[in-house]
Amino acid sequence: MLVCAVAGCDRSAGTPADLALTGVTVVDVAAGTLTPARTIVVTGDRIVAVGDSAAGFAPARTVDATGRFAMPGLWDMHVHFGGGEALIDENRHLLPLYLAHGITTVRDAAGDLSPSVLDWRAAVAAGTLQGPSIFTSGPKLEGIDSVWPGDLEVGSEAEVRAALDTLQAMRVDFVKITENTLTPALYMYGLREAISRGFATSAHVPVAVTLDQASEAGLRSIEHMSYLLRGGSPREAELSAAVAAGTMTAAEATTAMIDSFDEATALETYRRLAARGTAVTPTLNGSRILAYLDQDTHATDSYLQYLGAGLKATYEGRVTRAAGDDAAAVARRHERFEKAARLLPLLQKAGVTILAGTDAGFLNSFNYPGIGLHDELEVLVRYGLTPQQALAASVVHGPAFLGKAADFGALAAGKRADILVLDRNPLEDIRATRAIHALVLRGKALDRAALDGLLTEAKTRAAATSAPR
Ligand SMILES: [Zn+2]
Repeated sequence: MLVCAVAGCDRSAGTPADLALTGVTVVDVAAGTLTPARTIVVTGDRIVAVGDSAAGFAPARTVDATGRFAMPGLWDMHVHFGGGEALIDENRHLLPLYLAHGITTVRDAAGDLSPSVLDWRAAVAAGTLQGPSIFTSGPKLEGIDSVWPGDLEVGSEAEVRAALDTLQAMRVDFVKITENTLTPALYMYGLREAISRGFATSAHVPVAVTLDQASEAGLRSIEHMSYLLRGGSPREAELSAAVAAGTMTAAEATTAMIDSFDEATALETYRRLAARGTAVTPTLNGSRILAYLDQDTHATDSYLQYLGAGLKATYEGRVTRAAGDDAAAVARRHERFEKAARLLPLLQKAGVTILAGTDAGFLNSFNYPGIGLHDELEVLVRYGLTPQQALAASVVHGPAFLGKAADFGALAAGKRADILVLDRNPLEDIRATRAIHALVLRGKALDRAALDGLLTEAKTRAAATSAPR
């Protein structure tokens, strides 16, 4: 190894590098350990070395990060882009907003702007658009006349196959399946067919399908915690079959399943999910926001200023629906949220992989792109994860779900140089993820002033939008 005195070190003597981050404490999120006084050397979009100095390298730029903490950039494993073609620009402007909050990768879980999202995915990868790396499901599989815009609506097995052909042609990163109007039989067919074509799958679960049936078929992630309540019912299979047979409504069966919840049953079910590799994206903060809309109007939320008028208008539907709930319905909303949230430690105990995702984007009222992930991480800790487990749900399990564990998940030589530099230790206090000192994105350092510039830009762009007619 080449060693030289700190002062007067001949830069030409080392291997050229683009960036050295010096004096930083490296957070190993997977292990939950810290290594102080490290120097991270970056060339291009890769980390080339992590050591006690930059000796042997001649970095073009050195950033002193003494006293700070470095961890991989954050992953939001459940976002949406959508709201119609009129909102393409407003959605694209969310990309720098994610960066300003330290999020270097997002997993888009479907919407109605798939062609644009696919373009952005390519442009970010090519370096022509500034934003987080994007993984996308493209349009999701649904039944005919589903409630969501932009779905690939299927009413037969042939249509399922044609939809999957379309998704293959789009080169989507995973397949998302939901259950609004999709029949349970086509849901299972779509799941099996997508898996047989090599796709990772992410889905809601129809009441007529048990968690075990979906998991046994190979489902990789269940989106939203509420579905997991059913797995705690000793009557899940019986009630699910009654819905499939048409002798019970989905709402009746769901209520009966929740009423018969039993912790030991839940733990057994979750252990089977864990053994089969079915993960869960709880999106707890999003559920919390919707459950408590009666108590919090969000009218003075400062984050509203970062959103365009068109996206804010998509928030109205859920607000109006919640306002129509009577006292009993409001109480049920609160109770279901709290019951679902309390499953988190059970899932963790059972060994289920938790993915940190927000559900931020159009339609999902006050679930703010960017800051929402920090809120989700905080809620995950409030309901029972350790800060290490919450961070792993984002930066370790996120890449693993998408088959990218080799490139991400840690700060080590060979990994992508997406580095979040924090003022405080996030293993000690999860709120430290908000204390962002700098971000290295694909090897390019964005200091606090640059990140503040992105926030100002988001505000200015949002203010220039006008409400849709
Ligand atoms: Zn969603």
